[in-house]
Amino acid sequence: MPPAESRSSEAAAESAASSVVTPAKKNLLDFDLPMLEQELASLGEKPFRARQILKWVYHQHVHDFSEMSNISLKLRSELSARYTIALPQIMTQQTSEDGTRKWLLALSGGNAVEVVYIPEPSRGTLCISSQVGCMLNCTFCSTATQGFSRNLSTGEIVGQVLTAARELGHCNADRKITNVVFMGMGEPLLNPDNVFPAIRLLLEDLALGFAARRVTVSTAGLVPGIDQLKEVADVSLAVSLHGAENTLRTELVPLNKKYPIAELLAACRRYLAGKARARITFEYTLIEGVNDHPEHARSLIRLLRQVPSKLNLIPFNPFPGTDYQRSTPQRIATFQKIIQEAGVVATLRRTRGDDIDAACGQLVGRVKDRTRRQERHQTRLLAKGVATPDGGPNRRALEVST
Ligand code: SAH
Repeated sequence: MPPAESRSSEAAAESAASSVVTPAKKNLLDFDLPMLEQELASLGEKPFRARQILKWVYHQHVHDFSEMSNISLKLRSELSARYTIALPQIMTQQTSEDGTRKWLLALSGGNAVEVVYIPEPSRGTLCISSQVGCMLNCTFCSTATQGFSRNLSTGEIVGQVLTAARELGHCNADRKITNVVFMGMGEPLLNPDNVFPAIRLLLEDLALGFAARRVTVSTAGLVPGIDQLKEVADVSLAVSLHGAENTLRTELVPLNKKYPIAELLAACRRYLAGKARARITFEYTLIEGVNDHPEHARSLIRLLRQVPSKLNLIPFNPFPGTDYQRSTPQRIATFQKIIQEAGVVATLRRTRGDDIDAACGQLVGRVKDRTRRQERHQTRLLAKGVATPDGGPNRRALEVST
């Protein structure tokens, strides 16, 4: 029997989720502009109605059809009968000493995902999730320890942006969120049916209106997905590399076995074809003694020269039960220097929001795991003596290991 506190938060999640989803009604946030035009055509309405509705929802933040005053009363009541505008509900929110904010959002089925907002002097980045959990099993990522539950719907993806925008007091004159990155939970290119309409809504002027280069899809290297994405939008592409040779990369990112480095680089080149000045961002998590040797930096340089790119180095963020450690500042500095001296742009991602576990690879959410990976991880944690009785992350263990 779980302790009372966790029982009540479970109950809150279930009740929040049940108020989010009304099975008989469709969530209007699931529709991009072409899809909404089609829906309205099936109601005998003209396409421009779809544009009016998107503006109400995304520009005016009106979520009650009865308030959409330029729409006929008849259509308003028809819309209310058929659709809902369902945003995820906030279960918890935290603010870091550095201003980073994190929300845990309740989704249907007892699941929840975390969304992180990272303010910087010149921009504000929102890190969103595309799946509850992940199927890819990258060895250095805490999401992998939680298994996989399901894909997020389009409405749940744009709902993360709308919720964060509302909480930040978003208005068009003062854009708090300037960039959106798919770097939360999940592999976005394994959920194309929902991620692609969400991207269209992010870019659509009548909806969220982001410039394409300010939306970044981060992938572990799903080659067919990269080719599909190119057909959808001209968004920025980040590729999680972490190793420049196949043996090392396969150890860290098992997907590399299916799509090895040469194929991945070819897909990156296809993605950039015809785009002036565009570059791929390669992400490289620095793990002590695993991929942070000067020799690794040199093979990385050879790889980076094959594609217009820049490198984003991420110091590994530990999580309970991991055997990996973050590279020392000295090692990180040497690694970055070798890359930069070769004339390659290499930035170091500052760890943000680590007092609230909001850094890369630390987002946990709540995954109603269907893969038994979470269970196996809990067993390993217990064997190491780092699990708490309710199965949640052991805070002390995390602090000691950082
Ligand atoms: N599936 C996608 C997006 C999610 S991960 C992808 O693989 O790109 C987002 C970024 O965080 C990736 O670059 C990932 O490799 C990195 N990351 C994951 N776990 C991490 C950890 N423990 N420490 C630092 N970075 C991590």
